[in-house]
Amino acid sequence: MTTNEAVPVSPAKPRARKGARPKHVPQRMCVVCRDRAAKRALTRVVRTTDGLVEVDASGKKNGRGAYLCDKAACWDRAVETGTLGRALKTTIDAGAAETLRRHAASLANAVQPRSGTIIVVREESNR
Ligand SMILES: [Zn+2]
Repeated sequence: MTTNEAVPVSPAKPRARKGARPKHVPQRMCVVCRDRAAKRALTRVVRTTDGLVEVDASGKKNGRGAYLCDKAACWDRAVETGTLGRALKTTIDAGAAETLRRHAASLANAVQPRSGTIIVVREESNR
């Protein structure tokens, strides 16, 4: 009928977790307003190994990174006050400033206006 073998211990069976998970959600802080938020709510800016400052939408580029929240004002201030340059330990040159301001302008579209004006949110096609 059955063999005399012991029931094998199943290797590395993942433990099912229910309810509140103790797992730590990575939090990031906006370098300007110091708001903390889950990583996805912030956008990474990276100084690449080539010394270029780029908006890192993937959050995975190599280089020194700093996070900014989705408030356009923070992006403007990051450039104007030099906060971002300090965070990245580099100088935000004109080209980088332009890149960042452009990003800030795109964010402004998504910012909830105070006046109750209805705005059209851009459609994201890359999803
Ligand atoms: Zn911020």
